[in-house]
Amino acid sequence: MTPTAGSTGIVIDPRYQAHDTGAGHPERPERIKVLLSLAAGGEHLVSLAARPATGEELALVHDGAYIADVAATARERPWFAFDADTPTSPQSYDTACLAAGGLLALLDAVMQGTVGNGFAFVRPPGHHAERHRAMGFCLFNNVAVGAEYLRRRYGLERVLVVDWDLHHGNGTQHIFETDPGVLYVSTHQYPYYPGTGAMEEVGRGDGEGFTVNLPFPAGCGDAEYREAFTRIIEPIAQQYAPQFVLISAGFDAHTRDPLGGMEVTEAGFAAMTRVLLGVAAAHAGGRCAAILEGGYDLTAIRDSSHRVLDELSRVAAPIPDPLPPSRATAVIDRIAHVQRRYWKV
Ligand SMILES: [Zn+2]
Repeated sequence: MTPTAGSTGIVIDPRYQAHDTGAGHPERPERIKVLLSLAAGGEHLVSLAARPATGEELALVHDGAYIADVAATARERPWFAFDADTPTSPQSYDTACLAAGGLLALLDAVMQGTVGNGFAFVRPPGHHAERHRAMGFCLFNNVAVGAEYLRRRYGLERVLVVDWDLHHGNGTQHIFETDPGVLYVSTHQYPYYPGTGAMEEVGRGDGEGFTVNLPFPAGCGDAEYREAFTRIIEPIAQQYAPQFVLISAGFDAHTRDPLGGMEVTEAGFAAMTRVLLGVAAAHAGGRCAAILEGGYDLTAIRDSSHRVLDELSRVAAPIPDPLPPSRATAVIDRIAHVQRRYWKV
């Protein structure tokens, strides 16, 4: 469709398949292949061109020496592995630049009013990448580059990042944990990889109170996530009044995911999106962008992505209600107790 302020932008590019993690690695090129039909756009969807992030843009959150280390995997250090989970191929650096830049292209389109919101379907994912270190399938922290870009390029003062990936986004938390200009909120299986994300991790220094962790035991599904969003995430997000909402949208909390122990369905991801769109509508002129993080069951990625896009483009299906009673109320009570030091929850 013709881009309008109300339409939904999509970034996806066949070149995201070029990062080769080797046989048997769960973070594989097929994760993008199952989504490539979205590149055609659609009635409510506008396909946007990806572009590589520049070195200067990556340096918004990454150390120059670390960026050079990743760049070296394209030539001097072929097939280098940063850790057992995070191998590279000669195409990995270019693909990682295109992943971060894909989000920036979407953010420009939203900020300039070409589209109202959108989703960047990229790989490699980003939220485990630290300022000076790759880890957990991640090379550059795409969402962190995006959040910092919104502040530097567009002068935004409050950016909300909600990370519903199965895993805690240690990199994103650490990059912003002393900084009240980015509120980082994460739901994750806990204890689990990468080990961080305890509810007592609330940010440090000027950033104290601007990191919100919701660690969940395995077995949580739509009812538990809804309780978390209703009691904790939405109230805090409304009080923060973000000028932009970013979603680290992994789909590995899906009930069919092979790596995770959660039971979220497509409808659950839709419900979370709807809450965050409400926050964006109330404070950010509707400005919201999701970026793919994890998710390793191909049909779960595809079906969940389509449901989230339906929400973003307001052609949403009804969300099932009532859900079964939440089994996470005791955990959420404890999280609320921690957060009451900073927020009305
Ligand atoms: Zn994950």
